[in-house]
Amino acid sequence: MNLDGMRRFDRDEIVDVVVVGTGAGGAPLLARLAERGLRVVALEAGPNHDPADYTPDEVEATAINWMSSRFSGGDAPTAFGPNNSGFGVGGGTVHWGAFTPRPDARDLRLRTETGEGADWPIDHDELIRYVAQVEADIGVSGPTPYPWDPSRTYLYPPPRRNAPADLMLAGAAVLGIRAADAPAAILTRDRLQPHHGLRHATTNVGSIHQGERHGAKATTAITYLPAAVAAGAEIRPDAVVHTIERDARGRVTGVVYREDGEDRRQRCAALVLAGGGVETPRLLLHNGIANSSGQVGRNFLAHGAVQVWGRFDEQIRGYRGYPSAVITEDFVRPAGADFVGGYLLQSLGVMPFTYATSLVRGGGVWGTDLVDELETARYSAGIGMNAECLPSDENRIELSSETDEWGLPRATITFSPGANEKAIDDHAIATMIDLLTAAGARSTRVLARSAHTLGTCRMSDDPAEGVVDGSGRSHDIDNLWVCDNSTYPSALTANPGLTQMALSLRTADRMLAGL
Ligand SMILES: Cc1cc2nc3c(=O)[nH]c(=O)nc-3n(C[C@H](O)[C@H](O)[C@H](O)COP(=O)(O)OP(=O)(O)OC[C@H]3O[C@@H](n4cnc5c(N)ncnc54)[C@H](O)[C@@H]3O)c2cc1C
Repeated sequence: MNLDGMRRFDRDEIVDVVVVGTGAGGAPLLARLAERGLRVVALEAGPNHDPADYTPDEVEATAINWMSSRFSGGDAPTAFGPNNSGFGVGGGTVHWGAFTPRPDARDLRLRTETGEGADWPIDHDELIRYVAQVEADIGVSGPTPYPWDPSRTYLYPPPRRNAPADLMLAGAAVLGIRAADAPAAILTRDRLQPHHGLRHATTNVGSIHQGERHGAKATTAITYLPAAVAAGAEIRPDAVVHTIERDARGRVTGVVYREDGEDRRQRCAALVLAGGGVETPRLLLHNGIANSSGQVGRNFLAHGAVQVWGRFDEQIRGYRGYPSAVITEDFVRPAGADFVGGYLLQSLGVMPFTYATSLVRGGGVWGTDLVDELETARYSAGIGMNAECLPSDENRIELSSETDEWGLPRATITFSPGANEKAIDDHAIATMIDLLTAAGARSTRVLARSAHTLGTCRMSDDPAEGVVDGSGRSHDIDNLWVCDNSTYPSALTANPGLTQMALSLRTADRMLAGL
C-alpha cells in the first residue's frame, strides 16, 4: 500500500498505542483509534507488498505467507506456510479466501446449550452490529435475502458461480438441502474505497489466495490501513517485535523490535498484540508475561476443514472463478447429530499446486497415483467444510529449544482432534459424498485437513480461565490488549476473518471508552 506522506512518530515519543500486526485483528482497530485522534503505530513483521508483485503462480506467491518454520505435532499436525497466517502489511487478509459467513448466535453459547466447549463472553447482537459495520466498510457481496437470515442484506450481488458451485447446488437440490450463493468480501461492482481509490469489480479469477492486485478482494491493506494512515497512524513494515518492556508495576512501557538488523524501541502507553494465533502466544511465552492463569498457548483450535472431491465426466476446470461461491448453513446444528456444534459447507475450486499438496498431505496420494490424479484434475469438483473445534488442554503452543531467524524460540504446536471433532468429520464427509454423488460424481476422494490458528490466548470472564477479558484486555496487565484469532474460546462454525475484524472494531471502542 502507499505509505508516502505517512505521519512518522519519534521512537522516544510515548505514543498512545502500539499495535503488533496489521491483519484482520490489527488493522480495523488501528484505523478506529487513529480516527478518534490517538497517536498509533503499527509494527508489522513482514514487508509492505506491492500489489504489482502478486502472481497467480502458487510456488512464487509465498512472500505473503508466514514461512518461518514452526514445529507441528499431535495426531493431526496443522499445516503451516501458505495454509496459515499472513506476513506483511495486510496480514492474513492478503491471502484469505474472503468467504464471509457471519458468526452464529448458538456457537457463542455452546457451553450453556450443551455443557461442552466454551461460551464467548460476548453478546451476539452487539457483535453482529460490528459485523454489519465491517461488511459496509470493506464491501461484502452476497444474496439478499440470505436464506438462513432473511432480514440480512448485502451491498452487492454475489460473485458469479463457477462449475463446482453449480454442481453443489445441483446436488443440494436433489437431496433437499438448502444451498445458496455465498457471502464474500469480493466486489461485484466497482467501488470507490475511501483513502484508497477505485477498486475494480471482480473478473472472477481463481487465484485470489495468491494476492489479488485489482482490489476486488477486500484486504486490510486497501481498506482499514489506508484509512488509518489518512487519520495519522504510522505503519512500520519489516519490524519484528520480540520484547515487551514493563515498569516496576508490571505495566507495559514499550516494545523492542528488529528492523534492518538492529534492535529498536518504541515507547507506548498501551500495547495491542495482533500477531495471530501462533505469534501472539509465542511472544507472551517468550516474555513470560500475562500468564498468571497458565492459559497462554493453551486450547489451540483448528477448524475442521476436510474436503471431498468428486470426479465427473465433464471438465470442471475448478481453477476458474471465485473458489467458494456456494454455501450451506443447514448443518450448523444438524438434526440427530451425535456431537455438539456443527459445520458449514462451501463449494471448492482450487489452484493446481494447492490441490497437489492437499492430495499428498490429506489423501496420502503419492507417485504415479498422484501424477494420474493431477493429469485428470480438471474433471474434479470439491466441497469443503468449516467445523466447530472444542477447546482441549492437550492442544497447545509451546516454545521449542530452537531459535528462528530473529533469535526467538520457534513455536511447537500440538493438535489432536477429539471425539467431537471426529464425529463432525464423519457427518460432514457423508454429507459431502452424498452431495457430490447426487450431482453426478463417478467417484469421490476424502482429503483430511484442518484450517486456521485459533485459541491460545482465550477470552474469559473468569481470570483463572483465560488470558484476556471479553474486551480483549489482559487479565494481568491493564494496558495490554490482544486482538486476533488467539482470543477465540471456541472455533465457531463460521470462518474467522469477518468475525475477527468485527472484534477488532469492538476492542477499539472498548479501549477508547477506558483510556
Ligand atoms: C489460506 C487461507 C485462507 C483463508 N480464507 C479465509 C476465508 O475465506 N474467510 C475467513 O473468514 N477467513 C479465512 N482465513 C482466515 C483469516 O485469514 C484469519 O482468520 C485472519 O487473517 C486472522 O487475523 P489475525 O489478525 O489473527 O492474524 P493475521 O491476519 O495473520 O495477522 C497477523 C499479522 O501479525 C504479524 N506479526 C506476527 N508476529 C509479529 C511480530 N512479532 N512482530 C510484528 N508483526 C507480527 C504478521 O506478519 C501478520 O501480518 C484464511 C486463512 C488462510 C490461511
